[in-house]
Amino acid sequence: MFKGIPASPGVVIGEAFIINHKIGEIEKQELPSAKINEEIMLLREAVEKTKMEIFAIREKVIFEIGNAEADIFNAYIFLLEDPLFVGKAEEIVKKEKVNSAYALSVIAAQYAEIYNRISDSYLKERGRDIAGLVDKILRNLSANMDSKEQAGQNEKYIIISHDLSPADTADLDKKKVMGFVTEVGGATSHTAIVARSLEIPAVVGVRDITDNVKSGDIIIVDGEKGIVVVNPNPKVMLAYKEERRQYLIKMRMLKRLKSLDAVTLDKHKVVLNANIEFPEEVGIVNEHNVEGVGLFRTEFIYLNRMNLPSEEEQFAAYKTVAEKMNPKPATIRTLDIGGDKFLPYFKIPTEQNPFLGLRSIRLSLTNMNIFKLQLRAILRASAYGNLRIMFPMITIAEEIDEAKKILEEVKAELRSKKVPFDEEIKIGIMIEVPSAAIMSDDMSKKVDFMSIGSNDLVQYTLAVDRTNEAVSSIYDPLNPAVLRLIKMVVESAHRNGIPVSVCGEMAGEAHAAFILIGMGVDELSMSAVSVLNVKRVIRAINFKDALTVAEHCLKLNRASEIKAFVLGQLNDVMYVKK
Ligand code: PEP
Ligand code: MG
Repeated sequence: MFKGIPASPGVVIGEAFIINHKIGEIEKQELPSAKINEEIMLLREAVEKTKMEIFAIREKVIFEIGNAEADIFNAYIFLLEDPLFVGKAEEIVKKEKVNSAYALSVIAAQYAEIYNRISDSYLKERGRDIAGLVDKILRNLSANMDSKEQAGQNEKYIIISHDLSPADTADLDKKKVMGFVTEVGGATSHTAIVARSLEIPAVVGVRDITDNVKSGDIIIVDGEKGIVVVNPNPKVMLAYKEERRQYLIKMRMLKRLKSLDAVTLDKHKVVLNANIEFPEEVGIVNEHNVEGVGLFRTEFIYLNRMNLPSEEEQFAAYKTVAEKMNPKPATIRTLDIGGDKFLPYFKIPTEQNPFLGLRSIRLSLTNMNIFKLQLRAILRASAYGNLRIMFPMITIAEEIDEAKKILEEVKAELRSKKVPFDEEIKIGIMIEVPSAAIMSDDMSKKVDFMSIGSNDLVQYTLAVDRTNEAVSSIYDPLNPAVLRLIKMVVESAHRNGIPVSVCGEMAGEAHAAFILIGMGVDELSMSAVSVLNVKRVIRAINFKDALTVAEHCLKLNRASEIKAFVLGQLNDVMYVKK
């Protein structure tokens, strides 16, 4: 039994499938002589496919960003054609009669070693590029093989991996992947967030799990408690089958709340919104009868592809959301890339501290073409419904001024071309950095609404990486410093007559939602999977109790005390008054 961090709820039992071996760990398979030519053909096909993909990206980058930025792709193509690179891998396949993926990994490891010894940071970064390139070839290589063969006999399986990027997670096939377990990660990493959106049970931060599981082992993933069981004995298996049954019963009970309103017993209404990553999610969101989309993480349109999505593609995605939600509002957050989300076709220099670097609005403000293209697409889509624009990771007021100025330029351009858009479109900012929370009084005078991104606010307030399992014990949204900052933002917003929402993961946790409501937060926005549970709590509490609870919590000095207190209170109101 292994303990990790609960990342996405649900209990699943199935066969393990190990993926994402680190380079150097790819299994060596001996091949019969008759298979060697076929293996080399497969490798050549994968390299050719990778080359075509890189050509396409290069063309797109030249067209949309410029010649200089496309240079790096020439280097990739050069490397793919270099006899010392792929040619050497072919040689290993022929001489040693082994699989091409293994041969490629041997060459990649040799390159990695050379680049690792170099102290120049630019060249070091090129070393990482090569690793990325090898990864692409390996993916194309494995895409050519029968996926059934890889996943054993089972149609469905549980992925066990050292890591899964948010992009990898977004690409999972829900019909086949029952759940996943990773060795690294945190509960509010984007990998975990996407798992919740896709409703795939997951546990992250399970140390050394890849060394303790083989493909084909039977695995239990308990995404609620963060537990993974490998090859359970019949007693444990039975207990978990029962657990799974209970979980499904609970979900069925919650479904009854779908058509009911989110109002407290003393008739205080809480606006419940949903967070989405993909336009297709609006269907599920509408089923939950929410008031709107509080956060559309648009960067997921940009991930898992080889080029920048065009204005038309983006327009189509935002228009779908606008139309399907209409007349309810949908909040479109502009691109939030960097940190733990990267675009293969848009390289930013490797950073020592990506979460503190060129991330989010900072990246948009330094890449005007990309930013304007997105704003044009959102504005055009605003003619088809009730869209709001939200700028992420605001740190200083100048960023709001700059972003609004650019938005006005784009609006003027559309007006001059007589392209329709919503002239009254509301503009908001995310409060995710302590400086913004502290300066929220000034900032709220510049915008129509504010939304607290608690996932990042916790990370930046406590100086704790949200994706790092080693420091996850400090990462706590109930930390008194975080709660006091939230309170400050709520007061600033209300003093200036604008609404404030919380759209980080804490909004979807029943006990945290109880405190947020009591602190005066107007709207809560969360993964669709959490909506009904939070609604259940809202319908069972009195707003006046929430006010008293929040007031008391704000006087406490430790997260543990706050948690114990609020859980006790919630227990009382849920089970005594109801
Ligand atoms: C947040 O930081 O709380 C947030 C909602 O944005 P994201 O999780 O996408 O960083
Ligand atoms: Mg954020």
